[in-house]
Amino acid sequence: MKSYRKELWFNVPTRRAFINITSQVEDCLGESGVREGLLLCNAMHITASVFINDDEPGLHQDYEAWLEKLAPHEPVGQYRHNVGEDNADAHMKRQVMGREVVVAVTGGRLDLGTWERVFYGEFDGRRKKRVLVKIIGE
Ligand code: ZN
Repeated sequence: MKSYRKELWFNVPTRRAFINITSQVEDCLGESGVREGLLLCNAMHITASVFINDDEPGLHQDYEAWLEKLAPHEPVGQYRHNVGEDNADAHMKRQVMGREVVVAVTGGRLDLGTWERVFYGEFDGRRKKRVLVKIIGE
């Protein structure tokens, strides 16, 4: 069985952003040489997400508005976690959007649905963060 591991680095200049990382994940799969197996992709930080959905800007604005309704950033004083930092909302947004995705690898390709794309969701950016890609198979 082949095994592959890589860390992707992000330094998002804004507090929040959604970034399509599908091509980076596909590059990892190409490097791995795996043709049949499973690919795991997860955020290595508790204020960022990896998720799969549509690459449509309106949807991403809807996510932003929805997440701000669920866990507004301001006022930061409403959260107990904000002791020496102001990212309680980012922890909650990450929880809702998820930590990781697992994608089947078939014939050396990501076995995604027609409109499925892999995204990095940043909720407390402006610093370096990592995403892990782990691929196993043959
Ligand atoms: Zn925190």
